[in-house]
Amino acid sequence: MPDTSAICNLLAWSNQQLAHSPSAAVDSRVLLCHCSGLTPAYLMTWPEKQVPSSVEQAFIALVEKRKLGHPVAYLIGYRDFWTLRLKVAPDTLIPRPETELLVETSLSLSLPESADVLDLGTGTGAVALALAAERPNWSITAVDSQMGAVKLAQQNAALHNLTNVSIYQSDWFQQIDSKKFDLIVSNPPYVESNSVYLKQGDVRFEPLSALTSGKSGLDDIELICQRASDYLVPGASLIFEHGYNQAEKVTQLLHRYGFEQCRTIADLNGLARITGGILP
Ligand code: GLN
Repeated sequence: MPDTSAICNLLAWSNQQLAHSPSAAVDSRVLLCHCSGLTPAYLMTWPEKQVPSSVEQAFIALVEKRKLGHPVAYLIGYRDFWTLRLKVAPDTLIPRPETELLVETSLSLSLPESADVLDLGTGTGAVALALAAERPNWSITAVDSQMGAVKLAQQNAALHNLTNVSIYQSDWFQQIDSKKFDLIVSNPPYVESNSVYLKQGDVRFEPLSALTSGKSGLDDIELICQRASDYLVPGASLIFEHGYNQAEKVTQLLHRYGFEQCRTIADLNGLARITGGILP
């Protein structure tokens, strides 16, 4: 337990508890700000100030959970993505910074002024809501097979007053009316089902249904490629986020199901993470 409830003592104790994690200092600060309502600037300016014992108790409880590996985003209940603060819950994946590249790529396309866009496997709503916020004239449909995710995405839309997005439950295209979109985006599950990566860090606490997709990780991407042309106008794009080593395979799948002019984009780490094609 920390010696006193002074901010500097609480942080020092927490850093020690979380020493095995490379993000110990940031995690400690984020958790203390969350429990106390104080800003990071306050923590740095007034390290000797004491916090009330209810805050100290709440902080200790969260640090203990973090020590067991629980993701910080689940502990505090939100994650910032693009320009939006999104509610998160163990029902779905925590939005990743690299997924902002899917948003950026979608925004760089030349689409009609009031484009119809579909986001498959929306999770917290991250991609759909970022697009809805940036393009108020677009009409966005976002679906997820998990009702928990659908509810979360709907709450996030309401929190940000985004009314140009309609969110409902559908297992990929199953519940989607015979409608044609100008763009389909998806950050589907794409991790190989036996990947060792699933046994490390935050992903251990995230739902497998949002992470894995068969042995190759490509089952869902293939299914989407196979069906997407029925839901796209000629000239429309289908764009995926995928694993760092899947660009070639995703390109092959896009070609196999009739897409052309395929293009892959690398993330800030130089890894090929986004691939899309155009329906002729
Ligand atoms: N990018 C995620 C990860 O690194 C995987 C998410 C997904 O399968 N869509 O854990």
